[in-house]
Amino acid sequence: MWNIVIIFQTFDTKEKCISFAEEQGLILKAKICRTHKMPMTLLLKKSSSVGVFRCRKGGCRKRSALGRSSGTWFENVKIPLPQVFYLMYAYASHWSHAEVRKNSFIREPVLSSATICDRYNYCREAVVLYQVDHQVAVGKIGGPGKTVQIDESKFGKRKYNKGRRVEGHWVLGMVEDGSDDLRLEVCPGNVRSAEVLIPLIEKHVAKGSIICTDCWRAYDCLASHGYEHRRVNHSDPDNPFVAEDGTHTQRIESQWRVIKRFFIKDNYNNSEDFSNLIYEYTWRKNIANNHHDPFVRLLDAIKYTYKP
Ligand SMILES: [Zn+2]
Repeated sequence: MWNIVIIFQTFDTKEKCISFAEEQGLILKAKICRTHKMPMTLLLKKSSSVGVFRCRKGGCRKRSALGRSSGTWFENVKIPLPQVFYLMYAYASHWSHAEVRKNSFIREPVLSSATICDRYNYCREAVVLYQVDHQVAVGKIGGPGKTVQIDESKFGKRKYNKGRRVEGHWVLGMVEDGSDDLRLEVCPGNVRSAEVLIPLIEKHVAKGSIICTDCWRAYDCLASHGYEHRRVNHSDPDNPFVAEDGTHTQRIESQWRVIKRFFIKDNYNNSEDFSNLIYEYTWRKNIANNHHDPFVRLLDAIKYTYKP
């Protein structure tokens, strides 16, 4: 597992950062000139972070050099490479900005909030693109005879932001009994009607599943969409949590508390694209469930999204 000491030792110079990036396939080691079919020369100038490629043959000599960073994870990087890797580790570890500044082993230049935000946004973007495709690739949850609990919850409800009321975001959650593979979707248009919820359920839950929900009316048509539908009536004074046939939604409901606590650092009320935070959450949860190394998984997401 990566830790801050190993990060510090591995990425303490620009040269070590570049060779790591080459080994990981984040940047090209060599480039062939299209005209001459010959390897180009790699120049590591001070000004350019990961260097430029230049062909020395014939008419190519007059052409301008090709930046090695273009189209890669390192395009438009304006901070030293050790800090790029440090911020990747910080993002993977889900550190707050304060933790980033406190733990930084590089004193100069001091990382501004804007810089941290910027790099975190790049990381999140790569993670979201990776996670969107990955969720589809692993397939649906549930199936005939299997039980899936489904519930919706509003995030950011009744919060005020600079005098403006924030309406919050409806999120649909789905989890199969006996599995930790939690599926979350932000409701488009922020509505939780059947027209919105059923397609989201069909995206994630296999036909024939037994679906447990509360008595929200949007779920009434589940039976006509190939599911076996069971309800728990939260307003039943005798048994508000578990129906007579044993139906309950307590696993998915207990998830909401965990997720809302997780997002406190990210100030989700201000988030312009809340669904990205939800994808990030499922990515992180998946890593925790499988005891993976977050830094390695972030590298995977970056390699998936940025191909040099
Ligand atoms: Zn050439």
